[in-house]
This record gives sequence, structure tokens and C-alpha cells, in this order.
Amino acid sequence: MKQKRIAKADLPTKTCAVCQRPFTWRKKWSKVWDEVLYCSDACRGNRKAKSGPAAGTEPR
Ligand SMILES: [Zn+2]
Repeated sequence: MKQKRIAKADLPTKTCAVCQRPFTWRKKWSKVWDEVLYCSDACRGNRKAKSGPAAGTEPR
């Protein structure tokens, strides 16, 4: 017997670099999973706003 689809528990997980919460592999990340660091676009945005490179976009 072969498993046709991967059980949810078998999906890879990562820890979000911003909120430190674990998140699970998603189909939309299938090609870029190695590069995914954040659980959502919101966290990706937070990362930029909080401690991005000095781009001069942060209000002082
Ligand atoms: Zn996150």
C-alpha cells in the first residue's frame, strides 16, 4: 500500500523568524521552502520595519 498524500503531521515545519511560532509547509512555498523564513507576509513586513538594513525608511 502506498500513501497517496502526505499526512499533515508529516509536513515539514519551520519557526518564524519574527513571531517565533512554528508554521507548516504550504503548497505555495513548495518551490521556495528553503528560503521561507516567515509564517506570513505580515511577519515579513514586521521584520523589515523593525530591524532591516539602514534604508532610511524608519521614522525617527
Ligand atoms: Zn510569524
